Amino acid sequence: TKSRAKPQITVRMASPRGFCAGVERAIKTVEETLSIYGAPVYVRHEIVHNAHVVARLSAMGAVFVESIDEAPDDRPIVFSAHGAPQSAHAAAEARNLVKIDATCPLVLKVHTQAKRHVAAGRQVLLIGHANHPEVVGTMGQADDGEILLVQTIEEANTIAVKDERALAYATQTTLSVDDTAGIIAALKKRFPDIAGPAKEDICYATSNRQKAVKTAAPGADLFIVIGSPTSSNSVRLVETAKAAGARDAILVEDADQFDWNILEGVSTIGMSAGASAPEHLVEAFLTALANRRTLDIKTIETAKENVVFNTPLRLAS
Ligand code: SF4
Repeated sequence: TKSRAKPQITVRMASPRGFCAGVERAIKTVEETLSIYGAPVYVRHEIVHNAHVVARLSAMGAVFVESIDEAPDDRPIVFSAHGAPQSAHAAAEARNLVKIDATCPLVLKVHTQAKRHVAAGRQVLLIGHANHPEVVGTMGQADDGEILLVQTIEEANTIAVKDERALAYATQTTLSVDDTAGIIAALKKRFPDIAGPAKEDICYATSNRQKAVKTAAPGADLFIVIGSPTSSNSVRLVETAKAAGARDAILVEDADQFDWNILEGVSTIGMSAGASAPEHLVEAFLTALANRRTLDIKTIETAKENVVFNTPLRLAS
């Protein structure tokens, strides 16, 4: 019997996608800590929110813990890219642990601004998602009540503040650009004197990935975002694709977890990957797809990135 030709599928690859500078730096920081101190190296929280990255570093000798209490006295502790509350830093310092901070510099910038506002007597309204580790870390830069969480326009319109003339806002770095603009507009309308960053604290990587998805998504039958469900920016990309007009959009951990039956009747897909998702997972997905379809790959590039952050351990050469 003659083998039938594989049906064709158009794949719109959103670019930029995948690893951002903060994630690259955080992963490298764990690798360097392992090579300098040997295994095991403790890491407070998943270094970045990706199951494959965490599994690879675990195999190299990283031990992931949620609390400093779980780390021994005689091993280094790396703080994850998301940042940590002051109390976690203090707990590590009180025990004289070797502490290596892989908090993304763009998250540290938000911490610095928030502390500056609080020192100047301003209460900070932090736009973000409850319980995300970055939000826990940023809120933990000041005493309780100095930084309040705002998650929705509704909350922006109703939240009780100490003094409406002494307010500032800050944002989580991985939010939806469009949703955040609506919340900021509501805050500015209600509190005309509110201080804040020029735009918002959403980082370059988050906004670039959303913009590329917005451009690639319209008219796609299915939009696939490679990433883990714990990854805030990845989940936002799925929402962005749907809002921009993809018929459907899903988060996929990796090719092994994908139900290929979904592609029945699908002729155009879009693809992106969250800031913590390694490109090899995208490549593996395309290889698996190529076994089933003839690929027509189109790259939709909306920005070029050249941001690199040095690791905290970088030795003088
Ligand atoms: Fe830093 Fe943005 Fe990457 Fe988060 S998503 S680690 S803030 S560059």
